Amino acid sequence: MSTPLVEVENLTRHFGHVRAVDGVSFTLNAGQVVGLIGANGAGKTTTMRILASLDVPDGGTVRIGGVDIVDHPNRVRRRLGWMPDHFSAYKDTTVGDYLDFFGRAHGLRGRELAKRVSEVMEFTDLAPLNARPMDALSKGQTQRLCLGRMLLNDPEFMILDEPAAGLDPKARLEFKNLVRILRDRGKTLLISSHILSELGEMCDTLLFMDAGRVVHHGDRHSLQRLDSEALAVFEITVHGDVEALGNWLAVRPGWKLVETLRTGARAEFAQSDPASIAAEVRRLAADLHLVEFRRQERRLEEAFVDMLRQGARPAIKPPPLPAVSVNGEIKS
Ligand code: ATP
Repeated sequence: MSTPLVEVENLTRHFGHVRAVDGVSFTLNAGQVVGLIGANGAGKTTTMRILASLDVPDGGTVRIGGVDIVDHPNRVRRRLGWMPDHFSAYKDTTVGDYLDFFGRAHGLRGRELAKRVSEVMEFTDLAPLNARPMDALSKGQTQRLCLGRMLLNDPEFMILDEPAAGLDPKARLEFKNLVRILRDRGKTLLISSHILSELGEMCDTLLFMDAGRVVHHGDRHSLQRLDSEALAVFEITVHGDVEALGNWLAVRPGWKLVETLRTGARAEFAQSDPASIAAEVRRLAADLHLVEFRRQERRLEEAFVDMLRQGARPAIKPPPLPAVSVNGEIKS
């Protein structure tokens, strides 16, 4: 089994009495896209800043490619890219000049520099904006410039703090596409966000933080299975008599009406095993004009809130490698 690209072990960082990061451990494999999720103040930015070698932990270790980040920050920096959540535009600086400047800062010169800047511009679709002053860019264009800056040294591990914040739907979609391409190129990405459903679509694995700790590490579906005892919610569509469906749900054991819809109902069923559900579908089809019976996927937000309510602390250990388990089950 190959060594993980990123190894974080028992990381801590305190600011006075605040335990911003409190014993965080996880590993990331090369080529994974991992979402870091948590409420405000959960410790995401602090963790990411340490991983980007911009801050030093009070305790614990971070190794990237087997190299300790505190002992050898410069060696590690060559391999990583950092996209902060705040970005200040320089005055009187064009997009082209900005990328050229940071390319030089990475030690690129001459033809190599021109080639790299041009590649980055093409990837982020910034070429048409080459001569545009960077303080005249839209939010989405600015994010693409920030992403382009991060890509100049072709890092293998990229850390992106809230990269999709404030983007309109079109810009979000563009950003997701860029993430997909980077993943296809074998890059490893750690992306933080408050927007859980969006990260779920982009990421292979999700790391949930709460109060400085990792409370869950697993794939999107494993999170939704965390609360397997939770009631299953179904959307039932019938042809014709919606009232008859309401009556059916009222007398049939295990069912509870959640909401009446124009052509049916949303309802909870007490059992979540396939055999019981199949029996209910057969019965529904026999008694009513059933058109559609669909289980509703729990939203990641709901699963996260429930998980915190259930007190899923202390931290669930990350699953053994490979971090995305084939059957999506949580390993603890
Ligand atoms: P957000 O989603 O709001 O950005 P976050 O999950 O990124 O939050 P952090 O920014 O890592 O959280 O902050 C974690 C905790 O550490 C917070 O309570 C914050 O106030 C505190 N903190 C972070 N940086 C500092 C600092 N430089 N000095 C003092 N406290 C800090």
